[in-house]
Amino acid sequence: MKKIAIFPGSFDPFTKGHEDIVLRGLELFDEIIIGIGHNSKKNNRYFNVDKMVGYIENAFDEHPNVRVLVYNELTAELAKKYDAKFLLRGLRNTTDFEYENSISQVNRFLNDELESVFLITSPKLAAISSSIIREVHRYNGDISEFLPYSLD
Ligand code: ADP
Repeated sequence: MKKIAIFPGSFDPFTKGHEDIVLRGLELFDEIIIGIGHNSKKNNRYFNVDKMVGYIENAFDEHPNVRVLVYNELTAELAKKYDAKFLLRGLRNTTDFEYENSISQVNRFLNDELESVFLITSPKLAAISSSIIREVHRYNGDISEFLPYSLD
């Protein structure tokens, strides 16, 4: 059976840290669905969600087994819909661990067939976070070094 993983997140923006998790995940799974969690009624993103879908698709245009979609429901439900048995997440530090540990328990409760798989960040990408990148961009700093695509 095909091993399908969901990589859920806000991806506001999608960074080289996220790209690294997906590329390493492709060694483990046949297909990865990058799910951008977004509620269209709450316009609380910094980067436009539809543009972000296009950027991420460009970054993986050589990987037909990577798909990108926007969703507004429980990740556990999304996984059922796409027959994904794995949830892929990245871990940078103990703060990530505490948070991921709780979500993972709840997801297991919501969908007991879902196995969370955590990849430890690559050291040179550990400091990259979407929130810091947004902050740099807000004050007109150059963020191109942190992104696996170019902004238009
Ligand atoms: P969320 O809003 O759900 O925390 P993010 O878009 O911030 O989603 O991140 C999605 C996933 O990617 C999370 O598991 C997060 O820990 C992981 N991640 C973010 N940045 C990095 C990085 N630099 N290296 C490894 N994993 C990362």
